[in-house]
Amino acid sequence: MTGATLHTALLIDGQLVAGEGIAEPIINPTTGETIVSIADGSIDQVEQAIAAAHRAFPAWARTTPAQRATALLAIADAIERRANDLAQLESLNCGKPLHLARQDDIPATADVFRFFAGAVRCQQGQLAGEYVPGHTSMVRRDPVGVVASIAPWNYPLMMAAWKIAPALAAGNTLVFKPSEHTPLSILALAPALAEILPAGVINIVCGGGEGVGSHLVSHPKVRMVSLTGDIVTGQKILQAAARTLKRTHLELGGKAPVIVCNDADLDAVVQGVRTHGYYNAGQDCTAACRIYAQAGIHDRLVAELGDAVASIRFARKRDADNEISPLISARQRDRVASFVERALGQPHIERVTGAAVHSGPGFYYQPTLLAGCKQQDEIVQREVFGPVVTVTRFEQLEQAVDWANDSEYGLASSVWTQNLDKAFQIANRLQYGCTWINTHFMLASEMPHGGLKRSGYGKDLSSDSLQDYSVVRHIMARHGQQLD
Ligand code: NAD
Repeated sequence: MTGATLHTALLIDGQLVAGEGIAEPIINPTTGETIVSIADGSIDQVEQAIAAAHRAFPAWARTTPAQRATALLAIADAIERRANDLAQLESLNCGKPLHLARQDDIPATADVFRFFAGAVRCQQGQLAGEYVPGHTSMVRRDPVGVVASIAPWNYPLMMAAWKIAPALAAGNTLVFKPSEHTPLSILALAPALAEILPAGVINIVCGGGEGVGSHLVSHPKVRMVSLTGDIVTGQKILQAAARTLKRTHLELGGKAPVIVCNDADLDAVVQGVRTHGYYNAGQDCTAACRIYAQAGIHDRLVAELGDAVASIRFARKRDADNEISPLISARQRDRVASFVERALGQPHIERVTGAAVHSGPGFYYQPTLLAGCKQQDEIVQREVFGPVVTVTRFEQLEQAVDWANDSEYGLASSVWTQNLDKAFQIANRLQYGCTWINTHFMLASEMPHGGLKRSGYGKDLSSDSLQDYSVVRHIMARHGQQLD
């Protein structure tokens, strides 16, 4: 099945222990078969994990940035040493083509730990000084406390890194809960984390949202909850967190608009959307899924993109031949199928390519392009989280910007034009956490990633994330003004 060893133990207080909760089957989405069953953490074990993180906090919070950086660099090294195994597990558990997991996910994960190791050593802030005569003020940034980090299934290890690295760097301790669908890669890293970090600094507990997840988010000793997930999950977490007034950091869904102007480089748009609309089978909150094409380029774009999308390779025997994965579960595949079915029930929407469940094993759905979509259509408004891209025609740029912004989501967007003046005018008007110009989907560890509106708040990556995982404190000393 895979050359990599399957690890099933949770990490609690520095010990690798078997879960004592219900055993959950972990499914390979390329076949639908069970890879292994992993026992969830019991509520007692969640309590032990929180207590361990709470005990470990004072000492970890007092470590120097250099000490924490050393630990983060060791984690990055450990990831790189295990790169082949981790890529295999990520591929097995998510159905990602192995060569892509190895080439994209693993290096990006290690880089996040390396970035935060550096960033925590050179944070900037307000100058100390005498803002009141005879008193010296200074500002500190201190950790928040025990953080509960809750991750999704689309990029299990990378999302873990986005949450774990800044939280640890800032001096917090953690209880990390992977998605119930995709625990394999982080559990494989757990023995290394146990060796590198003092007991209790990071705890890993598997389980579902309603059991382990909701116990974590309502626990009074947990001071912050960080979620990457669905909007509805974000709302539930906010309600639970309100009772104990926790800090929250929410990275929720997206529905990225892609504005294509008449003067765009058509080949670049076609290539860009073919790659970044369908990567990871569109299970990406930044996926280039909502195209607004100006009338002068619209028909050529639909025709050329249709051919390009129809050529996306998947479900082939040879890993290197595959470009995208299946959906994570039968449920998710059926959800995608029902979105497309409802869309095609509208007489104005045209199927350009795809729009069917792939026959054969696994949870594959054909890469799909739908044209003739209108702004108020469900398929334009709601996040599908699958390999489905819509095209909507527009005449005036103002109209495209209005439609792009007419969304509950606010995570990512892109504009395609060869006129940079126009590009910046559009980019500046878009209400999204990120706007790419003549590209889409590219991330850098140094740059902030996060949403507006119902896409949530708080930034992942970048030194902004370190700020989210820390609190500002003012220290003021009275010392008089006379020296004698
Ligand atoms: P999900 O919300 O179902 O689950 C995410 C995590 O939350 C899982 O670990 C789950 O167990 C946990 N959870 C669910 N209910 C909970 C509760 N009541 N209390 C505590 N924890 C709970 O999301 P998903 O299906 O795993 O991921 C897909 C969603 O995540 C999509 O909407 C996608 O857009 C979003 N996402 C956003 C980003 C981003 O950066 N903004 C990145 C990746 C995915």
